[in-house]
Amino acid sequence: MAAAVGVWGRERVKAAVVAAQQRARVGEIAPEEVPAVAVASLPVGVPRRVVNATGVVLHTNLGRAALGAPAVEAVVAAAGHTDVELDLRTGRRARRGRDAVEALAAAVPAAGAVHVVNNGAAALVLAATALAAGREIVVSRGELVEIGDGFRLPDLLVSTGARLREVGTTNRTSVADYAAAVGPETGFVLKVHPSNFVVSGFTASVPVAELVSLGAPVVVDIGSGLLAPDPLLPAEPDAASALRAGAALVTASGDKLLGGPQAGLLWGAVEVVERLRRHPLARALRVDKLTLAALAATVRDPVTPTWRALRADAGELRVRAVRLRDRLLAGGCPAEVVSCVSVVGGGGAPGVELPSWAVALPEGFAEPLRVGDPPVLGRVVRGRLLLDLRCVPGSADEVLWAAVARVAG
Ligand SMILES: *Cc1c(COP(=O)(O)O)cnc(C)c1O
Repeated sequence: MAAAVGVWGRERVKAAVVAAQQRARVGEIAPEEVPAVAVASLPVGVPRRVVNATGVVLHTNLGRAALGAPAVEAVVAAAGHTDVELDLRTGRRARRGRDAVEALAAAVPAAGAVHVVNNGAAALVLAATALAAGREIVVSRGELVEIGDGFRLPDLLVSTGARLREVGTTNRTSVADYAAAVGPETGFVLKVHPSNFVVSGFTASVPVAELVSLGAPVVVDIGSGLLAPDPLLPAEPDAASALRAGAALVTASGDKLLGGPQAGLLWGAVEVVERLRRHPLARALRVDKLTLAALAATVRDPVTPTWRALRADAGELRVRAVRLRDRLLAGGCPAEVVSCVSVVGGGGAPGVELPSWAVALPEGFAEPLRVGDPPVLGRVVRGRLLLDLRCVPGSADEVLWAAVARVAG
């Protein structure tokens, strides 16, 4: 109730309580349900900032990447009137979001040109519409991915009017499979990074360079937005390598491993990117000035909260976990330090396990922490709530301690 008053104000919360009490009087709800019903009846406000102690670095339900301070500052600055589409020196119209485009081009010199749309799915839709509508997209059966919430890449591609030409099998696809399918009907060959699952065992897939040798344009959906190879995630594809291998176009998301805002990134040969950029659909996928500002800042300063969480030192996480446990124990809260495993999540580096440390609490803490202020999200493992410190910035330890202490009290 106190938290709700903080968000909605006393009058509104009081009115909600009175209405819920009235429902209890007429027997619609039980008296003990009044607080929960009252809070649930309040209007949904702005999205709430939560503490991500899940150990999932890129959690789609928590908005994937958290923006770094430079990106947040850029968003605030861009919220007013900006020069997003104006050249201040000449006073003439300029290319929209050129800061972001220039930063992305500089970060991936192998690209002839760059374009930005709303998200990774939009990048694929634009590519399929502009390059393959009424024609065929040749794709391996091992790469027909469901991205989440029931949305599937094959459905998305077919919705553009392109036809899918599936080749190979779930576990093995060879260059001969592609070669047999490529012909005059081919719009492009598509390679999709299976970014949220791994197939292991008797498997085979075809590298980009070999697909390029077939002669048709190759579009590579790398998914996670790595600009260049990252030694930490050796199996994760990156834009620079795909382009150097001869890809005509690379698509990716801005809010995965790049650590930026939701955006769809497209790098490629000049004539291919220009075709996409001038296609009528491009206007419907046009990206907002706030996104462009955050994207430019993120690419220029890639040490983002995502970057930090991925590289957090397990020894330091343990020291923080011990400190948190000791403070909680001193206050009579049953807390333990446990080692655990964090994951990248959010469509990147499936199968990669990041050793981490957590404070373990009774499972009953999960709900009150989740509905508290600020909401704290952990994960429940075998009857215990783990608060994994990997994605919690050290500066938030105090807030985390206070939230747990409140629930314990
Ligand atoms: C995440 C992902 C997408 C979808 O990107 P959004 O930015 O979520 O629209 C498409 N393809 C791959 C391989 C992905 O990992």
